[in-house]
Amino acid sequence: MSAERAGGGQGRRRDGFPSCHTGVTAYAARGPAKDAAVQKALSHDRDITLITPSAPMKAPTHGGRAKCLQRLVRLELPVPRTVALSFDAVHRIASGDLPDMNGLLSSFDEDALLCVRPSSEDPDWGGPSAILNIGMNDARYVALSDEIGHEAAAALYLRFVQAYAIHVARLDPDQFDEIDETGQAGLSAALGAYEEEAEEPFPQDPAVQLCEVLRSMARAWEGTTARLLRQAKGAPVDAGLGLVVQEMALGIGRGECGSGVLHLVNTETGQPQLTGRYLSQSQGRDALRQRHRSLYLERDPRGPSLQDKAPEAFEQLIEYAHLMRRRLREEMQIEFTIRGGAVHILDGVRVERSSRAALRIAVRMAEDGIISEQEAVMRIEPRAISELLHRQVAPNAQRVVIGRGIAASPGAATGRIVFSSAEAQASAARGEACILVRRETSPEDIRGMHAAVGVLTERGGMTSHAAVIGRGLGLPCVVGAARMNFEIHKKTLVGERGRVFREGDVITLDGTSGAVLEGSPETVEAALDDAFQTLMGWADAARDIDIRANADTPADANTARRFSAQGIGLCRTEHMFFDAERITPMREMIFADTPEDRQAALAVLLPMQRADFTELFRIMEGLPVCIRLFDPPLHEFLPQDRAGLRDLAEALDLPVSDVTRRVESLAEYNPMLGLRGVRLGITVPEIYDMQARAIFEATLDASREGAPVVPEIMLPLVSARREVELVRTRIDAVAAAVRAERGRSFTYRLGVMAETPRACLRADEIAPHCQFLSFGTNDLTQMTYGLSRDDAGRFMSDYVQQGVFSEDPFHVLDVDGVGELVATGAHRARATTPGITLSICGEHGGNPESIAFCRDVGMDYVSCSPFRVPVARLAAAHIALRETGVQRPARL
Ligand code: PEP
Ligand code: MG
Repeated sequence: MSAERAGGGQGRRRDGFPSCHTGVTAYAARGPAKDAAVQKALSHDRDITLITPSAPMKAPTHGGRAKCLQRLVRLELPVPRTVALSFDAVHRIASGDLPDMNGLLSSFDEDALLCVRPSSEDPDWGGPSAILNIGMNDARYVALSDEIGHEAAAALYLRFVQAYAIHVARLDPDQFDEIDETGQAGLSAALGAYEEEAEEPFPQDPAVQLCEVLRSMARAWEGTTARLLRQAKGAPVDAGLGLVVQEMALGIGRGECGSGVLHLVNTETGQPQLTGRYLSQSQGRDALRQRHRSLYLERDPRGPSLQDKAPEAFEQLIEYAHLMRRRLREEMQIEFTIRGGAVHILDGVRVERSSRAALRIAVRMAEDGIISEQEAVMRIEPRAISELLHRQVAPNAQRVVIGRGIAASPGAATGRIVFSSAEAQASAARGEACILVRRETSPEDIRGMHAAVGVLTERGGMTSHAAVIGRGLGLPCVVGAARMNFEIHKKTLVGERGRVFREGDVITLDGTSGAVLEGSPETVEAALDDAFQTLMGWADAARDIDIRANADTPADANTARRFSAQGIGLCRTEHMFFDAERITPMREMIFADTPEDRQAALAVLLPMQRADFTELFRIMEGLPVCIRLFDPPLHEFLPQDRAGLRDLAEALDLPVSDVTRRVESLAEYNPMLGLRGVRLGITVPEIYDMQARAIFEATLDASREGAPVVPEIMLPLVSARREVELVRTRIDAVAAAVRAERGRSFTYRLGVMAETPRACLRADEIAPHCQFLSFGTNDLTQMTYGLSRDDAGRFMSDYVQQGVFSEDPFHVLDVDGVGELVATGAHRARATTPGITLSICGEHGGNPESIAFCRDVGMDYVSCSPFRVPVARLAAAHIALRETGVQRPARL
């Protein structure tokens, strides 16, 4: 080690910034009056503060770490002396305005080594790496060698030189990372490399070292890459950085010395579990990095433990950890050192955790009386729980992304690629999991979707057929993956980077993120455990808007019950007609030339529909069930290819040419705006008559066995009052007929789907003719924007990226436009019919942001896909609790 190095190092900088010429500092001696003296010395700069119990310190000005350290100090934990630099101070440092280094250094013992750590407002926003052992120089090395030995002193110095060279002087990291020697040899190599690369000796003056460390950390935070990174994690553009400078309690020295990390929970499950490691003669997070050498904390059959080695220190640590959990009201990860047997707490950060663990931690905290039940509810992000309802790609799994689309239905699914519904069914029959890959899906794909474990489409958005059905079935689904190449006829799928996948190749869909992955990455199971049920119970007690489910099938209804939906808000009946045994009478009905022929076909369908509804009523056990009468464009029921036309011709005993002509005559240029919904009910009224009869007969059948059923019948695509009057008259007649035939009474509620702009605008005159109005915001969004639900996926991501739309309006309700129509409709309906029930049944009903809007306009309930029900229950609870002043606590 060259003696000349001592005192050197205040050389020029290459970045044009002024160098730190502060001179060697005389540190003040530690004493009982030290705190007061330090506070006085720092008092001229209110942005540099010694952390004491009463120092003015807040997360929004000094960052979460500084605030947390103060809380540890208030708990009288053995935290080494720490000084906090505010966001303003750090911002000034970044622009070259340096604080008084002498004043800062005089806060600490003269021969102390220091470390600097970042302190951003939210720890998740990250920050530059901590730098340890500031103050190490040749002289200190010599002095420490006497105390702790050459090798140990060299290790401290080497760690500092490496960190300084890479993060502060910004020298080539490889040069320093690749130093294989340890101890004195490693130190000489590092100092030599530094001098060669930096063209100046390693700085020896602690004031210069500290000054450069502070400046480099301040400037790193303001760099573009760091800014973009933290913005991606939700940080505002002007997020500030604080820094904490702490005297080091060295984990290297005589007696039992070492460092470690500890927390009290399992980060995957949230169950209590003392976790962490300890390593003698180490510092920082060495104990975690060198697991083969480190000790378990608690006595453990796998190897030696801190509990055996230093039982008193261990007991002390556990006591501190429990105190922190109780008083900081959070599961904390503690960084500690032991020096000569005494414990020092260096830092505490909120334990990172999976969504499942977050939920259990919140519940346990409330059960232990540390936080209230309401606060536990507020601690869980509604969106995060949708992860718990489905199997997920494991957070640490290897992911090879081959494409991306819209994350339309959450969860992970792995299977072999198939390109048609028939292949999907064949695959399911063989017991092989498959992913159905289609350009887009249509009602004819329903059976294939039931057979598949996941669905991937090239086209479509959040409310396209595949997305709506996928969510209903709880089937992971990625739609609108337009940058992949779907060669359905060639039976190939080409990834975004040109990788070709064929039928039978295994892929995985991550419907939570929208990624399409190669092969079968590791997954984790859904977690509807006791903690989940407990938290949802607390959420239900807090919310003040009802949550129903959109459910079409018994399976959906069972899922809705499992997730405690308060009824069915939308049962789409058209999906009930795609089964093989039903599609033919349905087609016969469409092709019927006379009312008699039509009645004959409908008579075949009636018992099937009655059985469908009876089953739903039974499952829902008296909870409300809202059945929407037939909605889809008729042509969806017609065959699309030659084979289908031939089959139909056979069934109808007609020539293929006749059938083809009839199919062509039913084709529409714009089926979504054609003969749909109530228009069909008015022009071909027998269909609605049959459905109403099936509903009423099922009502009587189900009421005989269980709780009385009051069915709700909903008319789709209404745009004029007269439509409601006409249909209501017929349905009333059917009800009267069924009552007379069965000799039993029942009531029903009639409602209108407000899903055309005109229905919203004329809600005042429609409302008196019905008992409820449900806003169908899928169609309403489509018609308000003039934007096709099925085609919007092609350009939606460009539109959102370029800021034309702030969000996909099919996903998050457009409060400004569509919302104004909804609010107008709600207001006008209530003006003429105050007791009318208002709700939403479009996909937005499950969206946390949209639920707040629905509640504000006075809706009685929202209805969404069964798998979104828990998210909606929790989101509704958050909204109600926030209004009563319960806030989500700031992150530690
Ligand atoms: C709607 O339009 O919002 C709705 C719920 O109906 P569908 O999605 O079936 O058109
Ligand atoms: Mg609709």
